Amino acid sequence: MVIEPIPVADAHTDLLTALELPGRSFAGEGTEGHVTLARLRAGQVRLACLACYIAPRFKCQGPARVLRLIDRFYALCGEHRADLIQVTGAGSLSGVLSGERIGVLLTVEGGEALGGDLAVLRMLHRLGVRMLGLTWNGRNDLADGVGEDGTGGGLTTLGREVVREMGRLGMAVDVSHLAPAGFRDVVRIATRPPLASHANCAALCPHPRNLTDDQLKVLGEQGGMVCLTFVPDFVAPDSPTIERLVDHLEHAAGLVGPGLVGIGSDFDGMEETVEGLESPACFPGLAGALLQRGFSLAEVRGIMGENLVRYLERVLK
Ligand SMILES: [Zn+2]
Repeated sequence: MVIEPIPVADAHTDLLTALELPGRSFAGEGTEGHVTLARLRAGQVRLACLACYIAPRFKCQGPARVLRLIDRFYALCGEHRADLIQVTGAGSLSGVLSGERIGVLLTVEGGEALGGDLAVLRMLHRLGVRMLGLTWNGRNDLADGVGEDGTGGGLTTLGREVVREMGRLGMAVDVSHLAPAGFRDVVRIATRPPLASHANCAALCPHPRNLTDDQLKVLGEQGGMVCLTFVPDFVAPDSPTIERLVDHLEHAAGLVGPGLVGIGSDFDGMEETVEGLESPACFPGLAGALLQRGFSLAEVRGIMGENLVRYLERVLK
């Protein structure tokens, strides 16, 4: 069976942070790391969410760090204007999967980026940020991350204000990395459906970064999304293969429905990779594995890209 290329939308990659490393390039061939222009093209990627990750060592300089990474994003778009196009909302999303250029959408991973000020959130939105993960693994002034397993902390007063303001602005709240109490708070108060941009199923791999069946069901009930990730430890630490990742996709689809499942690779955000998924060039292999598992072509097109685009069209103004 000959299948036409399936366009891909990826909800989470750490390319911007990786480009901070000396010697790392987006255009270069045979470069270290995962995401390059040639590999995005080879994998049929049409939309890539590029995260501004606030690493723990930048905790106290969040706004400066996020602006540095946004500067890098704009430099990248400028340097590759023939290949990349910034996506900021429903208007620029329509047609992105069939377009010539690869859509790139700015996201932030870590509420430290806000420096405790809603005005900074509003300015990040003006710069094009359309998705925000409230925490990484630790605690910040918005909420506790999954690493804070002894405190049971949910959203702070400021964290709740941020979620409400994101709803007003038209931004996607990302619950990846958030501790369970914070997850409960987000789904209780969010005015737009949240998503998990990169997490898997705890029922198949009981890692604290993965979501329980109850959490997945709540996301689905709210019209939110789960984007499954390729981090080997979140797939199956002993045998991280494409088949085990497809198990997660199948399990999540059974709970939230195949129309609310997507891909959030975490390429350039992990050291080891799943066998057969070493870079974005490998996406067609994953699409093939989903078809082999019995998903319909329409479902596979949804999971690989269309579902995320539809979710963003609903959530972003
Ligand atoms: Zn992450």
